[in-house]
Amino acid sequence: MKNKKLTILILLLIISVIIFCIGVLVYNNQQDENQDTIQKSDIATKPSQTAKKSSSDELDLPEGHLADWNLVLVNKTHPVVNTSPNLVTLANGFQVLEQIQSPVESLVSAAQADGIELQFVSAYRSVEDQQAVVASVINQNIASGMSEAEAKTTAMSVLTEPGYSEHHTGLAIDLVDTTYYQTNADNLLNEAYAETASAKWLASNAPKYGFILRYPKGKEAETGIDFEPWHFRYVGVEHAIYMTQNKLTLEAYINQLKEAGR
Ligand SMILES: [Zn+2]
Repeated sequence: MKNKKLTILILLLIISVIIFCIGVLVYNNQQDENQDTIQKSDIATKPSQTAKKSSSDELDLPEGHLADWNLVLVNKTHPVVNTSPNLVTLANGFQVLEQIQSPVESLVSAAQADGIELQFVSAYRSVEDQQAVVASVINQNIASGMSEAEAKTTAMSVLTEPGYSEHHTGLAIDLVDTTYYQTNADNLLNEAYAETASAKWLASNAPKYGFILRYPKGKEAETGIDFEPWHFRYVGVEHAIYMTQNKLTLEAYINQLKEAGR
């Protein structure tokens, strides 16, 4: 009888020890799993941190040289050098530099696909065209009662001196949309255009086709020209995206290229 009780006691003891051991094993296993989860989640956050870092990283300065045809600078201090560029006449009758026909057409069809009918207001203008525009505005001013000097000063406050307009290069286009064109015919090139859907579309999409908003708001001191939400200038896709992302005018970008020894 005593022996039997002892055997049962021993058995119970052995079972308790086994249960205790199993308990310890299960607990350790869970701890390992938790550790594993922590490590896994740690790993999972690492790539996203890397992604964040790389997306905020600045783009490298694109390949490009000051002498490239698409980077030519024409402004109030840099007159046009090539006064007879190779031009092509677009379907709408406006002329642009031969090399930008395809980018211009891509820009127009992309806008169309997004429901925007772009309307050209100006593209290539020769030095003689500009001289004629200047003369005509001066004459209008004189006819409205201004003195000759006053007429000239007033005209030149809104017009570019012949020889110094970017339109002489064939790389610049002035664009609005057909509705705006029809409803604002007497005051087309106005800052108010910036508020339209087409101006907003152009500002954010033109760089994908190689065009920059050439005279942005707030950069008047750099460009020497007031904000012109309708004036786009071809520079090439890579340059356009870089300049837009870094908020650089062509003047500032050219300075960067100079510093980089291009
Ligand atoms: Zn223009």
